[in-house]
Amino acid sequence: MNDVIPLPAPISHLVPLIPVRDVVVYPTNEIVLTFGRKKSISAINAALAKDKYVALFTQRESKIDDPEIKDLYTIGTLCVVERTLREGGELNSLVRSIARIEFVSLHEDSPVQLVNVEEIFDHIENSPELEALARHLTTQFREAVGLGKSVEFTNFMRLMSGVSASELADQIAPTLNIALEDRQSILETLDLKARLYKINEHLAKELKVLEIEKNIASKTQEKFSKNMKETVLRERMATIKAELGEFDDSEAELDDLSEQLKDLPLSKKDKNKVYKEFDRLDRMSPNNPESSYIRTWLETVVELPWGKLTADHVSLKTAEMVLNEDHYGLDEIKERILEYLAVMKLKRVQNNNSALPTILCFVGPPGVGKTSLGKSIARSLKRKFVKVSLGGIRDEAEIRGHRKTYVGAMPGRIVEGIKTAGSMNPVFMLDEIDKIGNDFRGDPSAALLEALDPEQNKEFSDHYLELDMDLSRTMFIATANVLDTIPSALRDRLEIIRFSGYTQLEKFHIAKKYLLPKVIEKNAITIKNLKISDVIFKDIIAKYTREAGVRGLERELAKIARKVAKKIASNGKKPRKLTASLTQTTLHNYLGPAKYSSTIAEKKNPVGMATGLAWTSVGGEILFIEVSTMPGKGAVQITGQLGEVMKESAQAAYTYVRSHYKDFDLKPDFYKTIDLHIHVPEGAVPKDGPSAGVTMTTAIVSALTGRAIRKNVGMTGEVTLRGRVLEIGGLKEKVIAAHTAGLREIIHPWDNTKDLEKIPDEIKKDLTFHPVKEVSEVLALALV
Ligand code: ADP
Repeated sequence: MNDVIPLPAPISHLVPLIPVRDVVVYPTNEIVLTFGRKKSISAINAALAKDKYVALFTQRESKIDDPEIKDLYTIGTLCVVERTLREGGELNSLVRSIARIEFVSLHEDSPVQLVNVEEIFDHIENSPELEALARHLTTQFREAVGLGKSVEFTNFMRLMSGVSASELADQIAPTLNIALEDRQSILETLDLKARLYKINEHLAKELKVLEIEKNIASKTQEKFSKNMKETVLRERMATIKAELGEFDDSEAELDDLSEQLKDLPLSKKDKNKVYKEFDRLDRMSPNNPESSYIRTWLETVVELPWGKLTADHVSLKTAEMVLNEDHYGLDEIKERILEYLAVMKLKRVQNNNSALPTILCFVGPPGVGKTSLGKSIARSLKRKFVKVSLGGIRDEAEIRGHRKTYVGAMPGRIVEGIKTAGSMNPVFMLDEIDKIGNDFRGDPSAALLEALDPEQNKEFSDHYLELDMDLSRTMFIATANVLDTIPSALRDRLEIIRFSGYTQLEKFHIAKKYLLPKVIEKNAITIKNLKISDVIFKDIIAKYTREAGVRGLERELAKIARKVAKKIASNGKKPRKLTASLTQTTLHNYLGPAKYSSTIAEKKNPVGMATGLAWTSVGGEILFIEVSTMPGKGAVQITGQLGEVMKESAQAAYTYVRSHYKDFDLKPDFYKTIDLHIHVPEGAVPKDGPSAGVTMTTAIVSALTGRAIRKNVGMTGEVTLRGRVLEIGGLKEKVIAAHTAGLREIIHPWDNTKDLEKIPDEIKKDLTFHPVKEVSEVLALALV
């Protein structure tokens, strides 16, 4: 039910023409225009003299100063000149547009251009669509004004209170932010619906831009007001401080820092870097959070011992003396260290080459003196000593630092170590390099390699410092419990020196000569206060410790010393007067009940239980393997937290027994009626590796045949499916542990015979060794 409004009959006018630039005036608009061109001023005057009507036509191109008719758009507006104001040579006129007009013809060209024009009218078809379009335009316009679109307020209020759709369109069109052609095209669109669509579209675009602008503006505002607030508060704080007479001491600190920076022996490049940071700090407000990072960084730089070296004293005689003074035994190792120092000295004499020959790596169980030997080396060279533990490090940044832009960034452990040492040539111990891991955060061993490599470490760069540090004078010594977990690239750089566990006798000497004096001194008592006889030493070693090294032993002795110290302190006697003499009965009072029985070997010859010798990162161990049989269907169960390799070696042992059933007088299908349970007790040590093969086999055969195993025999060796016994590692450690446990005979692989040479005589003399090639020999020796 749309009704079309009929067009009125055309109305013609003869009016003065004024070309306008850069503006399109729509009907119903009131606008102030400034006219400067002579022709335009004459036209206004002519209009004022007559009926005040003028015809405004927009120039297609605003550059043209004296446009002809062809330079103008042919649709324009008929306006009434309401008021004029002369200003200089120009006329400011308030004009009100009353109708759209079309150019018809030029009537007179001079002095005023008079033209014939014809009014043209909107094509209006009243419809719900038209109404909806008008309403949408109102809403959008209101929204745009809400978002900051600038319009004249009274005009806006009038539009919002309701005007015709046509007027609405012609009032909003001039406020749009669009190109001249688009403006003109709106003027020329006579179909009102189409005109509303056009305006709506332009306004929608504008609205989007306004939204984005507002968003940006509010963010900027937020930031601005925060900065503003900070500045104001800071100013106020400064005033308050000044009023209270509290002056900022950061200035003085900065001067101090700059003084210290001046003397640093850095390369030019690095010095520039440092100064740049200093200048940044100098210019920064002390309340800027970044200033504290920069300050910390500069302080770290200043604290490092750039170029500081302690004088080297490479005297082999002194070194030998110091090593012997601090350590019992370890002859081979001391010899190796002296050789190393000798090479270092020769290199120095030859070509003043400061690079160290290779990097030493001490490998062995805990408590065997790796660290303390490192300290002795430092002492003999009169160098500083630092120890940095690398156990559990997974992150490259721990070695080499975090970039200083990280919150809480710090230099890595190498730089920290050097800082602690206070010199660039300390003995630098890298503890537990076998326990560094790697994951997604990078490979720490790669960073370590760079620090250790004499080719690269002249310019070691920590991520935090970003300055070149010369580590070529640093004497790195690595320590590890085992070799196989050290990354191979790293291992290739290391000169491995192996430490094995101590025998009972060695421990006795170490305890008596070295550990006791040490704990006595540490606990502020004297030798007179504490007397321990040889028998008691041996008792402590046998009954209270079971370890490869002497850490536990040192702890037990310290416990005794503390108890003595307490006695002296609490009963008020003069220290000199009290002597604690330990006897086998009083030992109990100091250390509690014995932790280990003197021998853990079985009292009787057992059936189904064999004694094996194991080797772990903490030294040698003896371990028992138990096998039980019970009626069943041939199932095999293995328990005791064994590693995969050890489980496989149990399977292999069982296969061997089944395929050799004849040798053991078993029925061919013996396994069909029994279940087998193999168990390795004591969960404390991780158990893995193939070397328990012979022990497994012996225990299984014993359980199946009922033949007992000789209780004093310990065995070790890998077994193949065909029964050959293969070489194993760590025989020395294993034999020492077997000896401690009270075993008397050792069955070992034939190929390990060469290792017997390294076993101390005092142990060898108590033991009988049986080298074997086949598992049948093991059984013949072990079974009763
Ligand atoms: P590691 O670094 O191998 O774990 P430590 O160097 O910490 O072992 O040694 C533990 C303790 O045992 C130290 O007090 C050390 O002086 C002492 N010690 C180890 N071996 C000997 C030895 N051969 N002579 C004297 N004392 C030793």
